[in-house]
Amino acid sequence: MRTILSKLWDYQVAILEIARLNRALRTYPESIRALETEIKTVEKRLEKTKSDFEENKNNQKNREEYLEMCKRNLEKYESDLMEVTNQKDYSAVLNEIDYAKKEIHNTEEELIKLFEEIEKNEKAVDEYTEILSEKQKELDKALEDFKATNKEQIAKRDQLIQVKKKLEEEIPLKYLKVFYGIAKKRNGIGVATIEKETCSACHMKIRPQKINEIKKHPDSLYYCENCQRILVYLPDNDDSQ
Ligand SMILES: [Zn+2]
Repeated sequence: MRTILSKLWDYQVAILEIARLNRALRTYPESIRALETEIKTVEKRLEKTKSDFEENKNNQKNREEYLEMCKRNLEKYESDLMEVTNQKDYSAVLNEIDYAKKEIHNTEEELIKLFEEIEKNEKAVDEYTEILSEKQKELDKALEDFKATNKEQIAKRDQLIQVKKKLEEEIPLKYLKVFYGIAKKRNGIGVATIEKETCSACHMKIRPQKINEIKKHPDSLYYCENCQRILVYLPDNDDSQ
């Protein structure tokens, strides 16, 4: 026959374990949060690279149009050169030709650089897209594992809730009231066991005379003189027997 107080101890163990499981069920593992952060970082880089790509493409279009214009100007000036009649106009047209040639040269250089940038952008977009898809797969797998673990934990918690209910029916209300009154003030721990002649909660020594009394009256309420918790004597915990 189990004593009321040993049931009260089991009751507390069930409550604490239910609370721990509820916390675990609410908290994503560190590995999942790290993966989510990583994915967000890569997504941002991908977005930035895509907008760089668009900007470079626009620049490329503008520069190409400008290059065409310079080439047309050059042609025009070169044909003008045939028609000028005085030295002043001649050197003015020569200056224009010179300027158009320089612009063509510079713009072509710019276009080469832009082309290289665009190639780099395209390569980076492919790379980031691939990393993202891999990381997303990893995350899906981790979430699945988490759900599987949760299933076990939910089953365990539900079973403990049943254990708690059953004990609530078996333990007299008077004991439960005293227990909750202490537990509320003491971090949820209202009952302590006697282990090696000390209180399992605060580790203070308990007088041997008191331990003897507790053993004689296993269902009377005795309290730890230091932490005021209910003391339970569990024979299984007693090394001296
Ligand atoms: Zn104590």
